[in-house]
This record gives sequence, structure tokens and C-alpha cells, in this order.
Amino acid sequence: MELTPEIRLKAILEGTGAGTWEWNIDTGEVIYNERWATMLGYSLEELAPLSFKTWEDLCHPEDLEPARAALARYLSGKAEKFECVNRMLHKSGDWRHIHSRGMLLTDEDGVDTGWLMGTHLDVTTEMAFRHQMEQFSSSLPGIIYSFVLEPDGHYHFPYLSDKTREFYGTSAEEGIRNAEEIFNKVHPDDIEMLKESITVSAQTLEDWVCEYRVLIDGKVSWVRGVSTPEKDVDGTVTWHGMLTNIDRQKDLELELEKLSITDELTGLYNRRFMLRKLEESVTESERYGDTFSLISLDIDFFKEINDSYGHPTGDEVLKRFAHIIESRTRKSDIVARTGGEEFIIFMPKTGLTEAEQVAESLRIALQTEDFVNDEGTLFNITFSAGVVNWPPQKTHSMSVRDLLSDCDRSLYTAKRSGRNRVVVNSNGQ
Ligand code: GH3
Ligand code: MG
Ligand code: MG
Repeated sequence: MELTPEIRLKAILEGTGAGTWEWNIDTGEVIYNERWATMLGYSLEELAPLSFKTWEDLCHPEDLEPARAALARYLSGKAEKFECVNRMLHKSGDWRHIHSRGMLLTDEDGVDTGWLMGTHLDVTTEMAFRHQMEQFSSSLPGIIYSFVLEPDGHYHFPYLSDKTREFYGTSAEEGIRNAEEIFNKVHPDDIEMLKESITVSAQTLEDWVCEYRVLIDGKVSWVRGVSTPEKDVDGTVTWHGMLTNIDRQKDLELELEKLSITDELTGLYNRRFMLRKLEESVTESERYGDTFSLISLDIDFFKEINDSYGHPTGDEVLKRFAHIIESRTRKSDIVARTGGEEFIIFMPKTGLTEAEQVAESLRIALQTEDFVNDEGTLFNITFSAGVVNWPPQKTHSMSVRDLLSDCDRSLYTAKRSGRNRVVVNSNGQ
């Protein structure tokens, strides 16, 4: 048997299970194939007489207008083909989702014949699956997505679930159309790190895990992404994964971090933070040659304050003293309570003489600061201080420990020589 184009077309249509329709826009004449009717549980005979109205009567009333609008878009040249999905009534009483596509038939010279021809496909199962997917994804605490990176560096999101708008202030459709809609919302300080992490995951094919900030209208939120890459033979990498909001976790982390470096009584930094700062500054100084100074302060005869006025008054003194130091140092200086009644002031980009002046003016200022106990008794406090500077002039290498020891040595010299004084460490200077 010769395979004519007609036989081939019939076989294709039967294979795809498509119904066909032909509609002459000028005359109103319509032709449906048998499958067009059986798709809805009828035979063509049952539906006779066939007309455009046959379709209208079976179509869900709410879907008529969108279908007409899709047709108008096509006929006015705004869409390349006529396409819509509408519900049609099956003989059993069920609504079926029918995907309708069509194009105008032109003759050999490209002139319109007035015939619009197209197909109907039952996509009820696909729609149900899509609906299930949407329900599933909207019940998840984040976005599920897939992301494709082609070997030439182009990338896009074939799928983004509905929560995309919640996270990125842009719809899933917009993100699918243009991936930059998503990437543009990533905090400028995090975008390089994010793209680098994608590159690494593409190269190693290890899971992509990344925490980054999203910035929408000045509001920052934290996102954590986890996804698994798969590489095609052509080098295309596809990730399937999930993005979740981790604002709460980040808030907790920040809170914990803050607690771990804060002195509870005074609200100043604690010893742990000061040691970390010193280690960092020594490393930086080795690289950039920066200088910094340290003042180590210890309140004189503090035990007597506790003994005379009680521990709570001692606490108030420590708080007030902390406040006085803070108000008399620069914003860039870092003040820590490093022990019971011991404090360190870290002064970046500050020479020894300037640091000594700061310590001295603080010492003098304190002499006129009145403290008061519960019973209204006024008293004054003094401190002794040691001052050191980095980098050391010594020829042998020095650690942060050595620097602190030098500072303490000066402080104890101040104590030994009568207290209420500042001693500069000139060791090796
Ligand atoms: P010096 O002039 O030699 O420094 O004498 P001092 O009495 O200040 O030094 P000492 O080290 O003998 O005593 C420090 C006191 O500080 C002892 C301790 O009870 C007290 N102290 C430590 N931490 C706190 C605190 O958090 N609150 C109060 N109220 N007192 C504290
Ligand atoms: Mg002490
Ligand atoms: Mg003391």
C-alpha cells in the first residue's frame, strides 16, 4: 500500500489521540473528526447537526470568553498561533480539560482560505497532575525549582513554584521567562559568592548548598538553597532543589553570636571578642603595616568598694565606669571588659603617645565623676593603666599573648608605684 500524505496524517492523529476541527470563519461551516466527539464520550452522529455552536454548547461558560480572547489575539497577529485550554463537558457529566490549537490555512500563494484548522487534545490528566504539583509545592515551606546551566554559560529556570513571589517579589512566570528577574533580587554583596557556588557545584557535581541574602525594596531576607546537579552528555547541568527562608535561623545565629562576644553586666565586648580582634589586627598589621594601641585598665581597690557598699553597688560602678570609657573614646575604638574590674581599650591606627593621652584624660576625668551607693554616699574611683603599641620595636617576633603580657606589666608597674596612674610600655620602643 502506498503511504499517501493523507494516510500518514491520519496515522499521526490517531497515534496522538488528537481530535481535529476545521472552521470556516467566513461561512461558519465546521468539520470535526470522529475523535473530536469520542474524546467527549459521543459519536459525531449523536452531536449532529454539527456547527460552531456544538463546540460552544459543550464548552464551560466561564471558558468561552478566554477562548475568544485567544482567538482574537491570533487573528490580530499578536500571537503566532491560536492556543487555549478549556473545560468541555463529557457525556458522563465530567469536565475534561481540552487543549485546543489552531492556525489559519493559506493557499499555495500564501492567501488566506478563511479556514482555521486545529486539534483538540485531552490534557485532563496533565492538568490534574499540575494541580497536585501546585498543591504540593504550596504546602512546602519554600520554593521548589529546577535550574539549567548550558555549556555556553546561558542559564534559565524551567520550573519555579508559586512561592517565588513571596521570596523574590517576582512571579514564577517572570522568573521562568527571565532568570535575571531572580538573580537581580540577590543582595549585591552576595551575588558573586552565589554565582561562584553554582560554578563549583557544576564542576564538582556536588550538591549546591548556599545561604545568601535577598534584597527587595530595601528589605533583606535570608535564603538557604539546597539542590542536586545532574550533568547531560552535552555538558548541560540541571539542578533540582529547594529554597527556604532562614530569617529566623539567622536572627538566632546573630543573637547567639552577639551573646558570645558580649559582657552581660556592662554590655561591652568580652575578653573572647577582644582576643579575636587582637589576633585579626596583628594579622592585618603584618599585611598592611597598620599600627594600633591598647590600654589595659584595672580599677584601684575595687574590693574595698564591694566590701564597703556591697556587691550590687560594685556592679553599678562597673556599669557606670564602662559607660564613661565608652563616652570618652572614639566610635572606632573597641572597649571590652576582660575580667572582674579589668578593661581593655583597643585603638586602631593610634600611636603610643596619643593612646597615653586618652588614658591620662580618662584618669583625670574620673577624679571628678561622683559615684553613689544605695544610701546616697558619694565616692570616687581611680584606675591604673598600662599602654602598649603594635607593631613592637623588638627584633624577635611577638604574639598577642606577649603584647598583653607587656601591657599587664606596665599596669602592675602603675599599681606598684602608687596606683591612679598610667604607665606606657617602652619596652623595646
Ligand atoms: P587593686 O587596686 O590591686 O586592683 O585592688 P582590687 O581590690 O581592685 O583588686 P582585687 O583583684 O584584689 O579585687 C578585685 C575585686 O573585684 C574582687 C572581686 O570580688 C571583684 N569583682 C570581680 N568581678 C566583679 C563583679 O562582676 N561585680 C562586683 N561587684 N565585683 C566584682
Ligand atoms: Mg584586677
Ligand atoms: Mg583592681
